[in-house]
Order: sequence, then structure tokens, then C-alpha cells
Amino acid sequence: MSQKTAARVKPEEAETAFGPGDAETGGLLTVDLNALAANYRDLAARAKPAECAAVVKADAYGIGLKPATAALASAGCKTFFVALIDEALKLRTVAPDAAIYVLNGLNPGTAGAFRDIDARPVLGSMLEVEEWDAAARAAKEPLPAAIHIDTGMSRHGLSADEANALAAKLKSLAFKPSLVMSHFARADEAGRPMTLRQIADFKALAAKFLGVTASLANSAGLLAYPDARFDLVRPGISLYGGRALIEGDNPMQPVVRLDVKIVQVRKAKAGDSVGYGGEFKLTRDSRLAVLSAGYADGIPRASGSTNEKRGIEAVVAGKRCPTVGRVSMDLVVIDVTELPEGAVKRGDLATLLGEGISVDDLAAPSGTVGYEVLTRLGSRYRRTYIGG
Ligand SMILES: *Cc1c(COP(=O)(O)O)cnc(C)c1O
Repeated sequence: MSQKTAARVKPEEAETAFGPGDAETGGLLTVDLNALAANYRDLAARAKPAECAAVVKADAYGIGLKPATAALASAGCKTFFVALIDEALKLRTVAPDAAIYVLNGLNPGTAGAFRDIDARPVLGSMLEVEEWDAAARAAKEPLPAAIHIDTGMSRHGLSADEANALAAKLKSLAFKPSLVMSHFARADEAGRPMTLRQIADFKALAAKFLGVTASLANSAGLLAYPDARFDLVRPGISLYGGRALIEGDNPMQPVVRLDVKIVQVRKAKAGDSVGYGGEFKLTRDSRLAVLSAGYADGIPRASGSTNEKRGIEAVVAGKRCPTVGRVSMDLVVIDVTELPEGAVKRGDLATLLGEGISVDDLAAPSGTVGYEVLTRLGSRYRRTYIGG
């Protein structure tokens, strides 16, 4: 297969910075590939003796599919999950020998595209199973694929009845099930009866697929449910430093840092309103810093503040400063009144991720999660990859 001979891009050989220059950019996004690799090794150690795969869908949760995959492969990862065949295509160029699974399954008529790059669909309905089986029969090759069984998501996967029927005729299939898997609906909460039920149901169903690798746990399942590890675990968010469990400490290292330029520092008077809608009225004479990032850069629009509701914060000169007013498309305003005059000036940086601010902290005021913040990280930043 031609892809197997494609050059492997080592992280240290990869270009390290992309986008506008330091002076021109509105923000500096820094991705720490050493932290990513350390998170992988940490999760792999927890998973043992199960294999630890990596979920790198959605551009590796926004941090960059190719650099992330190269770093993960160097850390020992051999099995990767993406959502789409197009992502598998990109992944194959940096991971010539990896097993690649495509979670969203087989789009009609795409079996050839899968075969071309040796990617494995995660078959989530009997129609997909039949199409893949026909492709394997026509190719006279036992093409590998995953069987997804639904145990509680009602999103993707065969019903228990369909899975049982399929298991009974394993020997007559032209394709080769290489993985049997299911997905948790609420493993982010420890000790949930629903999750324990999913584990028990999956255990019974997976046992019928004799000799086939079994996989159930995402990050939360791996961290909070030891019985969910089976043969292979599939963490995503924990690799990228995000919070997998709703409660307790997050044991992972942050991978992403975001520093944005201060466009100007200005004075405003008590009673002045800030931003669109005039939803924030200053209650004291203030100094405001205008930051060069907004919702077009992945800062959630709903994460600004009103006089009643606190929004996100930024660290400037070592101090946490609150946002004031709504987040605009390209700008957000913070209150730097508490900083000494001269401690902050035009061209300085304000940290939106890092210095103790996590992706989950940035997500919380707008009611979203670190997953969404990561996958929406803007494309206008200067992006630097360190380590690897
Ligand atoms: C996204 C995804 C994962 C990874 O989940 P995390 O919560 O990010 O660890 C695992 N399995 C499936 C099927 C997924 O869709």
C-alpha cells in the first residue's frame, strides 16, 4: 500500500509555528506536545493491561491532527480514532502503520476510499455492516472493521438483538470484525447506575464476539470505572488536558495556552456602559484593556459579563482580571483597574488559557465544556508547537 511508505513526520522535524508573525498576530496559541505525550503515557499506564488508543477526531480536538498524531505515535500509540474518512486520509500521511478507525462509520459508497488507505469503519447500523460485508466479498479480502453496539446512547450502534444475531453468524462474514465497541452516555459522573448497567450489558454482548478486541471506555470511563477498560480504551479529552469527570481534580496536564494582544488600555467613567447591548455599566471609574480575540476566535460569545453575571477572566501581569460586557467578534474587554498604572500597556499579552485558567474555566461561564472550547480554537492565531 503506497501510504505505508509515506514519510513519517517526526514532531521535531515538523514546522513549529504557523500563521501571522509575532508582531502582527492578535493572539499566540501554544500547543505543548510534551504535555500531550505525557498525558498519553499517564493514561496508558492507568489502562494497563488494556491498550491505550487515542481519539484524534475534529483535528485532534482542535490542537492539530498531524502534530498531535506524530507526538502520540512517538509516545507509543498504535490505534487512532477519527470521526470522518477525510480525517483518516490526513492521519494516514503521518501514521503509516497505525490502525485507524472512523467513528462516524461508512458513508454510502465509500468502502473503496476506506480500503485505499487501510482505514476501518466503525459500523453502526446493519446497513453499514451489509455494505462493508459486500465490499469485502467483492474484494476477496477479510477487510477489518469495528462493530459498534448501542448500550444507552441511542446515537450510533447495533441494537442488542442485532449484535446477538451478527455474533451468531460471525463465521459466515466476508469481513473481519477487528473491534467490538460501545460508548458511555454519562461516565463523567462517578458511580452512575446507568454506567454500571452499560458495562454489564457490553460485557455480555462483547463476550459473544470471541477473539475480537473489546473497547468501551472514553476518558471518563478510563478514569472513573476500572471495570470498563476491557482490551482497549479510547480517551480523547484527557489527552488534551480537558476535564473528563464533572467532579474532583483533573489529573491531566494542560496542553494549550492562549495569550492575546492588548490592543489598547483606556479609561472609562463610572456609569459608562461597555460593549454591545450596553449590558455592563461600570460602577467605578475604571481602566479597561481591549483584547484582540473574540467569538470568531473561539471565545464563546456568551462568556462575557453583565452586572449580574460573571464572565471569563484573563491573567495580566500575574493578576486575574474579569471581562466586562459582551464578547464581540474580534474583541473582548477586561477590567484592569486593580493593576498598578503602567503594569499594563498596549502590545502586552493577556492570558486566556494558562496561568491557572483551564479550558474548562474558559468554557464554564457560557455553560459549555472544555471539549467545545478546544475544538473551536480560532484559526487566526499564531500557532506554535513546542516539544514533541
Ligand atoms: C469522542 C469519543 C471518544 C472520546 O471521548 P472523550 O470523552 O473525549 O474521552 C470515545 N469514543 C467515542 C465513540 C467517541 O465518539
